Parts: sequence; C-alpha cells; structure tokens
Amino acid sequence: MPVHRIDLPRIVLVGRGVISSLNGICHELGYGKALIVTGKTTFKVAGEPVQWILANDGIQSDKTIVEDAQLDTVGRVMEDAARSRAEVLIGVGGGRSIDVAKLAAAKAGCAFISVPTVASHDGIASSLASVKGTERPYTVKAVSPVAVVMDSGIIASSPYRFTAAGCGDVISKATEVQDWRLAHEENGDYYGAYAASLALMSSQLVMESAPKIRQNTAETVRDLLEALISCSTSMSIAGSSRPCSGSAHLFSHALDLIVDKPALHGEQCGVGAIMMARLHGLDWEGIRDSLTTLGAPTTASGLGIKPEKIIEALVSAQGIRPERYTILSKIKLDRAGAETLATETGVI
Ligand SMILES: [Zn+2]
Repeated sequence: MPVHRIDLPRIVLVGRGVISSLNGICHELGYGKALIVTGKTTFKVAGEPVQWILANDGIQSDKTIVEDAQLDTVGRVMEDAARSRAEVLIGVGGGRSIDVAKLAAAKAGCAFISVPTVASHDGIASSLASVKGTERPYTVKAVSPVAVVMDSGIIASSPYRFTAAGCGDVISKATEVQDWRLAHEENGDYYGAYAASLALMSSQLVMESAPKIRQNTAETVRDLLEALISCSTSMSIAGSSRPCSGSAHLFSHALDLIVDKPALHGEQCGVGAIMMARLHGLDWEGIRDSLTTLGAPTTASGLGIKPEKIIEALVSAQGIRPERYTILSKIKLDRAGAETLATETGVI
C-alpha cells in the first residue's frame, strides 16, 4: 500500500474578531518576519489591521499588493519574500491574494497563513492554488496553510454575493462526489469513502442551513466557514481535489476559458451542479431551490452569461481535463444534448 500523506492546518480559528490573534499565532509557530500579501481594497479592510497587530507585538512585516493571480505575480511575490527574509507569507484577502501567497510560499519554501476576507470558495483553507499562466486552467498543488484565520465579522461584512458563491462551491460537492464514485466504479480510480463523505456532508449541511446562512450575520456565516474547512480537509485526506472537483467544476473552468467576463467560481459551480445533478439522476431541483434560497444564481442570465456560452462550456468541459473521469466522460454531450440539458433544468 503506498504511503498516504495528509497535510492539514495546525491552527484553524473561526469567529468574530479572531484576526487580532495573528500575533499570538506567529509567536506560537515561531515566526518573527512576515510578508503580508494582500489586495488594494482588502489591505484597508484587513491587511492594515494585520500589520498593526503584528507590529504592536514586535513581529516585523512588509506588505505586497497583488492585483491579479498570474504566475508572474507569484514570481514577484517570491522576490519580495526573499528581500524581506520572510518566514511566513500571510495571504489577506479574497481568491487572488490567497492563491498567490499560497503558491509563492510553496515555491519559496515559506510557511503560509490564510486570512480570508470573503468566503467565496474552498481554496481559502486548501493546499491547492488557482493561478493563471500555468499550463493548466485549474488548480495546482501548493502548500497547506499552517494556520487559517477566518474572521466571521470581516467575512459577514463583505458583499453577500461572495458568501452565496461560497455556498455554491460547497453545494456542488453533491455532484463532484458522485463523479468520484463513478470514476471508481467505471474507471478504476482510487476512491476514499471518508474524504467523499466529508465533502458530501458539507454540501448537505449548507443546503439545510441555506435559510440561516442567507441572514448573513457573523454567527450564521459560520456554517459556511466550517463547511469550507471540511471541504479543504476532504481534499487533504484524498491527496487531491477529487472529492471537491468534478463535472460542475469542469463546466466552471470551461466558462472561465470561453467567457470574457466569467461569474464567480462558486456561482458557476452551483449552476453546473444543477445540470450535472440531472445527468447523475440526483435531486437537481433540491440543489436549484437551495441556491435560490441563498440568493445565488441558478440561470445563465443570473450568471450574466449568454445561453450560447453555457452550451459551449457543457460540450467542451470534459476536454479540459480528460483524465478526470466524470459523468461527462460517460455521457458525452453534443450541442443538442447540452441544449436539452440546460433547457430542461431552466438554466437557459
Ligand atoms: Zn471549487
């Protein structure tokens, strides 16, 4: 039996105001020099407070602003990390800052702490990074955060659209886990029942908690934050993104490639999950209704994407990652099939 390595965060903090514990975490883990990787807006919201919190406790920190998640930017952040002799990269922000900090930390051999200001996808606690300019339009292995600090006060005051998108990402695990099971049964892929159950449970809990999460308070957003942590944990246990990324994610990656202005990752995965659930024979209406309750998009117009592009994405999705066996490997959609699926599920 091959060695199975599972990397998990050492510290996960969830709650209102937990950002003020970052100095204690750095001391506990033995970091005296940090580089804060953040965005322009998120620097004001959380980056600057983080810098103050560290400075007041004698921890040196520099900051670097990132505006995109390109591979070139990762290289620049690595240079900044070397220049400031940082022992830890603290990603403070949404997707871009976290992804860039995570990959730069992995390449530079530094530790990585994740401080998300939005809860729009499960990458905020995982070891995988989504960076443009790599040879693949999907996530690459980076490093597991040594600590994840989720300040529910900051996240609840971010635009609600991001929270709804995070729910879409989690809910889509219902179809992604089914894809994994199918890949095991029909393609002989490795399948881990524990990792699969964890991802599936997260999806079910977010669907059940939809009316509560919709209230969008620091207390209610907690259900989503814990689900995102569970999804990341399931990927760590599986050793890949397999429990969390199947056909709905391939559909989202396809949209990212063919649409000028894609919607948020989790929004696209949620809509993808409605259609993939129908292909799998799952309760696609239940998924759609939960997304509606959450105020997440369920249609092409809700995503701001033309129906034609939805069909194109459905047809081309599996080709992006042919080796990842999903329902789209089994049911090869042509244009007519894709149009029927999108129409019957009310997406177009
Ligand atoms: Zn995702």
